[in-house]
Amino acid sequence: MTYSDWTKGESVAIGAVRVAATACRAVRQRLVSPETLEKRDRSPVTVADFASQAVVCARLENLDEPIVAEEDAAALRAADQSEIRQIVVEQVAAATDRPVTETQTLDWIDHGSNHAEASSSSRFWTLDPIDGTKGFLRGGQYAIALALIDEYEVTFGVLGCPNLSLDGDDGVLFVAVRGRGAYRMSLWHDTTPQQIRVDNIDNTAAGRFCESVESGHSSHDDTAKIGQLLGISREPLRMDSQAKYATLAQGDASIYLRMPTSVGYREKIWDHAAGKIIVEEAGGVVTDVSGAPLDFSCGTKLQNNRGIVATNGKIHEPVIDAVQKVIGESRHV
Ligand code: AMP
Ligand code: MG
Repeated sequence: MTYSDWTKGESVAIGAVRVAATACRAVRQRLVSPETLEKRDRSPVTVADFASQAVVCARLENLDEPIVAEEDAAALRAADQSEIRQIVVEQVAAATDRPVTETQTLDWIDHGSNHAEASSSSRFWTLDPIDGTKGFLRGGQYAIALALIDEYEVTFGVLGCPNLSLDGDDGVLFVAVRGRGAYRMSLWHDTTPQQIRVDNIDNTAAGRFCESVESGHSSHDDTAKIGQLLGISREPLRMDSQAKYATLAQGDASIYLRMPTSVGYREKIWDHAAGKIIVEEAGGVVTDVSGAPLDFSCGTKLQNNRGIVATNGKIHEPVIDAVQKVIGESRHV
């Protein structure tokens, strides 16, 4: 597969994620210092989130399709936000390499904020401008995640992972098209796409699972018990963001577990759409903790699903069995 095989819309989306990743990396280099980390100052995340969303929405503008993105510009429009607003505009101009106005930037961001209307369309994009904000701040994994949902199914996904590495260089772009496989390439340069596959293990004990760094996003107590039931002795691979889906898709882990931590939480579509198609097109299986398929027909949340279980496919059944056993014993769900 080469670049010429992407359709126009696919190429535009790939380019959008690349430029957004450039913006995120620039913000991180410019604004995240030991001091901001010490002060737990989240303004670098704020700037990068808005700049990334503006850049992607700007690039997608000509496609004229609805976008369901995580952020909206309401807070950024407030009078006391002029300093942050200015930095966002500067970053968008630098990343897109052209002059942009404040109004344009805010409008691009808000193009992704009409969730009700967009998600009720039969075809729409969904964007997480920075997935894994904690990873972004701490120098760990984060991702720019963009996916297309058509008739309630994810049909295309792009994940930009600035801190995953490929052939020794940081920055990997993952792309999957329904029915056409999953590929990886450099996030920064035009390199030949390499097709990726999940691993081949059929014995759960030989596997390794990945999970969130944050125990508030996935119960580490539950995953430890599941690992034990499956006979897994290797330490879990903990990382932020949908880089976990990419890790599974390229065979560096066999399982991704996301165990609910509260009864009421529902997963957001932009946290899973791109990752799900990349794993599936690499030969894996993605369901919720009950083994049910993810249902993208309910707007911005996966209303009908709880948690996530993704595997190489071969071991899905035993993994779901272990998950069910542990959930049955857990008082949270
Ligand atoms: P991760 O990097 O995999 O830990 O996931 C980050 C994502 O977790 C964020 O984008 C949030 O949307 C999402 N999140 C926030 N609260 C929860 C929760 N209680 N359970 C699961 N995911 C959550
Ligand atoms: Mg997210």
